[in-house]
Amino acid sequence: MSDFKVKIDQTVADMRSAYFAFLQKLVQTPSLPGQEQAVQNIISSKLRSLGLAVDVIESKQEELLQHPAYSDDGIPFEQRLNVIGCWRGNGKKTSALSRTLILNGHVDVVSPGNEDLWQDSPWSGIIENGRLFGRGSCDMKSGLASAIFAVEALQRLGLQPAKDVLIESVIGEESGGIGTLTLIQKGYKADAAIILEPTNLMLCPVQSGALTFRLKIQGKAAHAALKKSGINAIEKLLPLMQAIDVLEKARHKRYQSELFDDPQCIAPISIGTINGGNWHSSVPEYLHIEGRFGVFPGESVDAAKEEFSQALMQAAKEDSWLSTHPPVIEWFEGQFESGQTEIDAKIVKALQKAHQKIWSTSADIKGVTYGSDLRLFTNHAGMPAVLYGPGDVRQAHAVDECIELEHVLACTKTLALLISHWCGCSED
Ligand SMILES: [Zn+2]
Repeated sequence: MSDFKVKIDQTVADMRSAYFAFLQKLVQTPSLPGQEQAVQNIISSKLRSLGLAVDVIESKQEELLQHPAYSDDGIPFEQRLNVIGCWRGNGKKTSALSRTLILNGHVDVVSPGNEDLWQDSPWSGIIENGRLFGRGSCDMKSGLASAIFAVEALQRLGLQPAKDVLIESVIGEESGGIGTLTLIQKGYKADAAIILEPTNLMLCPVQSGALTFRLKIQGKAAHAALKKSGINAIEKLLPLMQAIDVLEKARHKRYQSELFDDPQCIAPISIGTINGGNWHSSVPEYLHIEGRFGVFPGESVDAAKEEFSQALMQAAKEDSWLSTHPPVIEWFEGQFESGQTEIDAKIVKALQKAHQKIWSTSADIKGVTYGSDLRLFTNHAGMPAVLYGPGDVRQAHAVDECIELEHVLACTKTLALLISHWCGCSED
């Protein structure tokens, strides 16, 4: 076992109780979108206690409105505070890398839903059998904590980085990423970013995108007893659904990637709501459906929209009614691009190396089909970015969400080793 690994193991073990107490406090502090201030105060005090230079930056709608990646999450812009802690580099170059690094995590959590379904309160932070329970425990307060404690572990070892390490604690990720976007717009940059989402400690440098659409189909109302004199808008969905199904398959046939577990579900097209007709004994004159249209890594949002539109219009042409009354497509709310970092990028290699040293085995490299702030770094900050963090994404947003504490400690060690190599740590 390398010297460094022994030391880091010991240091992280020594921090256990303070670490878990901190994590409990984060989970016990609810941080639903728009209500992240209290948890951000805890984070900023912690970062200050480590001697980091702390900035608190507010997300403001008027500053984001014109940005192409901005999407309005409908949450009032009041005290949407982002916290950045900078562990300043001392400039003493010690490794070939000596680069700056951003460690990014979001503090906003999704609603716990029906709290009666939870075994304990969603804000209990209770620890049982090595797991800590509560909303945000997995997605992703543990990931964020692992970055903070990786810095603390290195400090306890008397180390200092040659180049800056930035810890970004952001808001608004779940509803579109305004926190990270704000920091990108304000010019916070580094040679690479690691986003500490729950990837089960897999390296995920590739992410699909997702667009929200509405389809409006027009029919012609009539008394149901005379249904042939009307046009049933609900029935007119059928040829369009078939076209969507054909399109989804064709798109997946075209896109080949080894990085996804299910090659048929990389950029799925899914219908989420349906609303049509206004009376059981009338032929419905309208149908509205809403859904999510997946965007492949490397595919532009415009190209994805165009393909969807063409497929639907082609199907409409083949139907006697729809050819003259084509469906109307609306794109609304979240319009999230895909994002990707090359799998042989320096940061992916460095993270893999750190992971290998701690685990004695390689991490899987995977793509993810859910949205995250990765796209903002890769597409709008020109920075390579990777998702890597403790916890299983299946726990995210779930009832009785929890995190394996050993997993959190393991992530902390990997991050400490990565920072030490990437940012060139040396003794003071
Ligand atoms: Zn998350």
